[in-house]
Amino acid sequence: MDGNEPAASNEHDARRQAVAAGLAPRKLDALLVAFSPNLRYLSGFTGSNGNLLLTPRRSILFTDPRYQIQSAQETACEVRIVKGPLAAAVGAAIAKLGLRRIGYEPARMTCDLFDSLKAKLPMRASLEPCPPPGENGAAGWVEELRMVKSAAEIERIRRSVETNSRAFEQVVARVKPGMKESDLAAELEYRMRRLGAEKPAFETIVAGGVRSAWPHAQPTAARLQTGGLVVVDMGAMQEGYASDMTRMLYLGLPGAKVKRTYRAVLESQLAAIDAVRAGASTARVDGAARKVLRANGLDRAFIHSTGHGLGLEIHEPPRIGKRDKTRLQAGMAITIEPGVYLEGFGGIRIEDTVVVTERGCEILTPTGKDLRLI
Ligand code: ZN
Ligand code: ZN
Repeated sequence: MDGNEPAASNEHDARRQAVAAGLAPRKLDALLVAFSPNLRYLSGFTGSNGNLLLTPRRSILFTDPRYQIQSAQETACEVRIVKGPLAAAVGAAIAKLGLRRIGYEPARMTCDLFDSLKAKLPMRASLEPCPPPGENGAAGWVEELRMVKSAAEIERIRRSVETNSRAFEQVVARVKPGMKESDLAAELEYRMRRLGAEKPAFETIVAGGVRSAWPHAQPTAARLQTGGLVVVDMGAMQEGYASDMTRMLYLGLPGAKVKRTYRAVLESQLAAIDAVRAGASTARVDGAARKVLRANGLDRAFIHSTGHGLGLEIHEPPRIGKRDKTRLQAGMAITIEPGVYLEGFGGIRIEDTVVVTERGCEILTPTGKDLRLI
């Protein structure tokens, strides 16, 4: 938990000040945040039910009695404990403070909360979508702030990555043919918890044989067979921050096609990593991965984007895809994960978590990238 250390609360204060300073240019009197990762980012509060009303001078967190003790410890914001729906209390505060234009996060607020807030607003107040409609594909304001990580956040991501890789090594050493995919996934999640993670960052993917060609396969009761690829895609959530890694196992001795395809994916991943630096567009990084696969006749089997940002969420901006024009900035934490998926053969993906630097990137993932032979 990062809640109560002075450094962490300064971190949250600084973020709220950044939002407060951005209100006037957006012609807003306040921003209302209801989305948990954004709430946590701005206030330190980790509960599941909360609304944060930010004005240039006030930060008020509304939550329910279950979080009375927790919120007092986690956040330096003014806390209002509300019995019943939060919207009524938020509406009353908006009226009392005389706020007129209240920004909200359209991609992050339920219709239900929007409607009840609207019903509770004083006559002259309005809810303003932020970002405004028409800013196509724009990341939310808070998400944009979240893209570039502080040194403290990068250290948390690094610890999450290390836990994840340690769990992988400890479990892979004991993998044998005949083991169930679901047992392997369970072992990985158990080990990451024992090593310091709060939980997995997403449902661990373990898929053997031809099912490795499903990029988001869920583990089944199928047993790992000799003569088959196994994809392992796993991530830890530690101190609130995600890690993400994909590695490939092979049970037995791989044939020429497996080796050739693996080499192409690895070269593609290395080329994309090489293209990462502050100022490079995300499309360019994606293009570097695609170019290598094209040269190997595999580009049509690469059916997703090259990577994504990660932090308080496992998937957050920027996306590293064909049509994404975000310029990378030093301090962004992203994944690089090209893959190819061939029906009837299997899939191969290799994924690291990296941090963008001025001149390139730092690869956080310490795990070796050879095909693991079991
Ligand atoms: Zn992954
Ligand atoms: Zn990923």
